[in-house]
Amino acid sequence: MLHRLKNDFRLSIIVLLGTSGVLGITPFAVLRFSQGNVLAGTVDVLILLGVSLPMTYAWLTGDTRRSGLVMAFISSFGAVAVGTLVGDPGLFWLYPCLVTGFFLVAPRIAMAINISAVLLMMMLGDAFRSQEQMWSFAATAVVVSACAYVFAYRNRSQRRRLEHLATIDPLTGVKNRRSMDQELAMAAAQSERTGFPLSLVLLDIDHFKKINDEYGHGVGDEVLVELVWAVDRHTRKYDQLFRYGGEEFVLLMPGLEGAGLEVVLSHLRQVLHRYVRHPGGSVTASFGVASLQHGESVETWLARADDALYRAKSSGRNRVVYADGMEDQPLIEPA
Ligand code: GH3
Ligand code: MG
Ligand code: MG
Repeated sequence: MLHRLKNDFRLSIIVLLGTSGVLGITPFAVLRFSQGNVLAGTVDVLILLGVSLPMTYAWLTGDTRRSGLVMAFISSFGAVAVGTLVGDPGLFWLYPCLVTGFFLVAPRIAMAINISAVLLMMMLGDAFRSQEQMWSFAATAVVVSACAYVFAYRNRSQRRRLEHLATIDPLTGVKNRRSMDQELAMAAAQSERTGFPLSLVLLDIDHFKKINDEYGHGVGDEVLVELVWAVDRHTRKYDQLFRYGGEEFVLLMPGLEGAGLEVVLSHLRQVLHRYVRHPGGSVTASFGVASLQHGESVETWLARADDALYRAKSSGRNRVVYADGMEDQPLIEPA
């Protein structure tokens, strides 16, 4: 349970708001009913349900997007209803709601909800004792919302930047091994469920160390970038390329196996040979290919592709070797 809360920021906020909402609002609901204010008590009960139901839904389904939106709406407009029904003591509830909306939904949506809630409260007008109080409320609510907006916006862009840094290889711009692990696990689980074929290609540049040694690391880097560009151009948009490490890449190809896969990879091998170049000639690569088998783990799948790559290297390089034995060899040996 703690593990889930630690790893899912929005879920932790929903649970925090949900439980503090339940703990904080219940005594007031009891108070309103005991004072005979049935309408305000009913509103409190509705808000209680409005925060506890999305919280339960988020916990059970993991869908924090929808429950966050519902919770942001209910807490803000619930606070408007309470303010309008009980006057200025209820007014203060809108402030925490104005801020917490930014933890639950995107900053723009939270801002739109806040503006609508404040305008609605002003239009209804019953929460205020005077015009001066109403305009003070409006001004302070806008300041609170604007500060929360700037904070949430910066936080969001920093989080996105960190996510980018953690998942993208800075040299080639393709996803790195860290995101590959997640994507392979997801794709394998989906293929297991749907029976849709899924193939994995381990692609390793031949004699890359020699390119570095002879022409320098900068040229080696250019070759890596050029290879990624060529693979990207000659594969489909739903094929995914990852940098596995060094000069080794993983290409994940959904919906392809058998003869269709052979044609595509044979073509790709030739394309790389023809178009990826260094100052002394052309670059070649070896391919180890494995299609996911029923019930197979990602580790075994990768190991089979790795074994095929090893065979491609040891049998002469610049070739595609399949885990189930087939081999596509170059007709013309590389220069
Ligand atoms: P093989 O045909 O057996 O694959 O031989 P190889 O020379 O390609 O493989 P080896 O593993 O011996 O050498 C890989 C080299 O890749 C060694 C390492 O310095 C270089 N390398 C790893 N990452 C980078 C990088 O980001 N840029 C450059 N320029 N070189 C890199
Ligand atoms: Mg290599
Ligand atoms: Mg290698």
